[in-house]
Amino acid sequence: MPPFDATQFLRQDLNAFPPYSMGHTPLADLGNYIKLDLNENNFGPSPKALAALAAMPFYHRYVEQEELRKAIARYVGVDVEHIVTSNGADEMIDLVQRIFLDRGDAIIDCPPSFEMFSFFARLNGARIIEIPRREDFSVDVDAIEKTIADCRLQIANSGNLQSEIGNLKLLFIASPSNPDGGVLSRDDVERLLALPIVVVLDEAYAEFAGESYATRVPSQPNLIVLRTFSKWAGLAGLRIGYCIAPKPIAAKLLQCKPPENVNAAANVAARASLDDLDYLMANVRRIVAERERMAVELTKLGWLQPLPSRANFLLCRVSGRTGKEVRDALAARGILIRAFGSPRLRDYVRIAIGRPEENEAVLRALCDL
Ligand SMILES: *Cc1c(COP(=O)(O)O)cnc(C)c1O
Repeated sequence: MPPFDATQFLRQDLNAFPPYSMGHTPLADLGNYIKLDLNENNFGPSPKALAALAAMPFYHRYVEQEELRKAIARYVGVDVEHIVTSNGADEMIDLVQRIFLDRGDAIIDCPPSFEMFSFFARLNGARIIEIPRREDFSVDVDAIEKTIADCRLQIANSGNLQSEIGNLKLLFIASPSNPDGGVLSRDDVERLLALPIVVVLDEAYAEFAGESYATRVPSQPNLIVLRTFSKWAGLAGLRIGYCIAPKPIAAKLLQCKPPENVNAAANVAARASLDDLDYLMANVRRIVAERERMAVELTKLGWLQPLPSRANFLLCRVSGRTGKEVRDALAARGILIRAFGSPRLRDYVRIAIGRPEENEAVLRALCDL
């Protein structure tokens, strides 16, 4: 008898699963680069968060998340019953999909978009209906409305419970969006919320945009807002995110999420960050001011065209070369920015906004190219 082959039990639908490759820098090298490739906060965590981490005496304990949820609820301005915490916003994307999607159900994704939406959808055996953004990266709300209307018509006509494209349950959109930095217009948000679908609004960059729909959640039963401490609070490496969800949905998430998904260090640092808002929001304002300055300076180069951004990064159209060529040329000068594999983004680079001296180094390096 041949030896038992355990790999035959692996899910066949994962055979062609595309690996997520955001290209991490080795820990030992992190200090050697100007890192502007992953939209992190180069001002770092709040000093109060670092002090609280060092002073925490209970890393050998399982730590409850109730106090953290209450602190977040106060920060957002909603009841604590709306708040669920997670191991980064990424985990919340997965958890939301898991409580809604049966195998074969569908999500709508509007690429170019945050890759984790489709990553987790594939992992969860969902179908992905892609409704590409327009040339200017705005969301094609007309096409979304039409897709959902067609899907419902099919269900009505066939007498089946499902249309050909499955049960369309979730719509994922980031605002400000990654990679382009643009926000949904108020009108577009209202049109999306009026649809018979759950709108998952990823507001990872809300603090930079200065606008949020989080306080709308209590009166909007089909809206889930995702937030994170990774970008504005400089805690990307600690992994702490959360959602604001209608109470029955939040209750289901609480019931189904891994109970210890938020580690003790993330818990402590997030709470200390919420006690140091003046410090952190001053850095957010610096980044926003630098973003506006960089947009002007990059445009002056003549071959980079930054798109309007409300986040902590600029997506720039490159002329005369590919995005990857620009990325590699900067990497050779110790500066990391993001280029993309997809054909649609071939002529773009995404540059996060760093501290002023880092942004100056970017401008100097780009002048040399
Ligand atoms: C960075 C980012 C996240 C990831 O947040 P984590 O809390 O670090 O998992 C989520 N959504 C968008 C749009 C992002 O750009």
